[in-house]
Amino acid sequence: MPMTEALNSLRKISHWIDGKTTLGISGHSGKVWDPAYGVQQATVDFANVSEVDAAVASSKAAFVQWRSTPIARRTEILFKMRELVHRNQLEIAKTISGEHGKTVADATGEVARGLENIEFACGVAQLLKGGFSEQVSRGIDVYQIRQPLGPVAGITPFNFPGMVPMWMFANAIACGNTFVLKPSEKDPSVSILLAELWAEAGLPPGVFNVVQGDRVAVDRLLEHPDIRAISFVGSTPIAKYIYETGTKNGKRVQALGGAKNHMLVLPDADVGMAADAAISAAFGSAGERCMAISVIVAVGDIADPLIEAIRIRMPKIKVGPGLEEGNEMGPLISKEHRDRVASYIGGANDEGARVLVDGRSEPVCQSSSGYFLGTSLIDNLKPGMKVYDDEIFGPVLGVVRVKTYDEGLKLINDHPYGNGTAIFTRDGGVARQFQFDVNVGMVGINVPIPVPVSYYSFGGWKASLFGDLHMYGPDGIQFYTKTKVVTSRWPDPATSRIDLGFPKNS
Ligand code: NAD
Repeated sequence: MPMTEALNSLRKISHWIDGKTTLGISGHSGKVWDPAYGVQQATVDFANVSEVDAAVASSKAAFVQWRSTPIARRTEILFKMRELVHRNQLEIAKTISGEHGKTVADATGEVARGLENIEFACGVAQLLKGGFSEQVSRGIDVYQIRQPLGPVAGITPFNFPGMVPMWMFANAIACGNTFVLKPSEKDPSVSILLAELWAEAGLPPGVFNVVQGDRVAVDRLLEHPDIRAISFVGSTPIAKYIYETGTKNGKRVQALGGAKNHMLVLPDADVGMAADAAISAAFGSAGERCMAISVIVAVGDIADPLIEAIRIRMPKIKVGPGLEEGNEMGPLISKEHRDRVASYIGGANDEGARVLVDGRSEPVCQSSSGYFLGTSLIDNLKPGMKVYDDEIFGPVLGVVRVKTYDEGLKLINDHPYGNGTAIFTRDGGVARQFQFDVNVGMVGINVPIPVPVSYYSFGGWKASLFGDLHMYGPDGIQFYTKTKVVTSRWPDPATSRIDLGFPKNS
């Protein structure tokens, strides 16, 4: 097929505004690649300011009705959405896999963890209950209610294009807000699939809008006076920018950033179990998870047997296109990102580390035009090396050798990121002490990827989160509502009198 004909036949991914697909008018668009084959598979429209304004106007108009829609009706729609996402789990997973590159099995897990958030939001009637205090003073009652904020926006990363939007929109919409999603431009299709499911579930037009795009769209959302709150998930520099700009513009902001998750392995740990966990958590989704384990901190003499156990497991991982059954690890999201990850492996020996397994020699890297990189294992990492300090976000597992628990703990606490961490040990007392001491938001005890269930909340510390509240779960309900406290008295002419003093309770 001639080149122009091929480009004309490419799928086009557009916005979703006011309950329908809305073609872009800005004239700007991006390329959506198929990372398993290294070819362009679609174009995605990039919104300009007026297109973002149209989405926000639609959200603002829909908010009037949506906030007064009874909880019972909102819950009914959420239950329908839950059923639809559940029924379409495989199609959603394949859509994710086709643009992100992760395996369908992995993407199915992503959808399942997203679904948990819709299930949690189905209980919104319970979650929105306020408090009531009777007779705080003579004939006076006080009660607190939770009300939605208005139109809110979510800006999401490429690595969980289905789950992370669900972290946000399930609670936001359940609480009575309207929601504008700005998904990653790298894998935008699933956002439209979810919008279609919302419509099928009976969500009124305008309650859920999608604007595709880049920084132009993000900046307009950050400054738009009608957007009340911003939820962001992505890399730390952008999270910081979103937090600073959004709060400067008077918005409530929660901005989750990057990570460098350490797994502390004590000498008494089960070596086989720790090796299985490290492999799964480091190389699942090609290491493109904010909760991936990227550093093992091996305490004392467990380092050699643990490295050996990991090393013998690594060649068994099947690397190939995520949509092909049997593969366990897919490609990275783009050529640029693959090359950036590979550059850390290339530079590690020069920094004084020791590359034990080099993922660049994985056969599929040579035979395929996809953005593949095999799994890498690098020993002798130290603070100050780029390969240790930076978030690499690829299938690269480093090892730091330390002599004691205290040394390992200090290393973790000194690292600027504090998203997740794990300890592997059979000693409950030490595990409990670790949970007490460690400056990280999510901790696993013999669990390598401690992503909280939807009825807790997700969030890191330090450079992994900007803002006060974690995402989803109870914090999500708090984030998407503001409280109002009402002090009430019913007319009683017998007790009515003039009193210019500040009201006292008695
Ligand atoms: P990213 O920061 O590049 O992009 C995230 C979003 O911000 C996208 O929608 C993108 O379009 C937008 N964006 C990018 N550059 C921008 C700019 N200059 N101005 C305004 N908006 C901009 O992140 P990514 O590469 O899509 O995702 C990977 C990163 O996300 C990793 O750092 C990973 O650790 C992090 N992440 C964190 C969590 C968490 O919960 N803490 C979860 C998933 C991913």
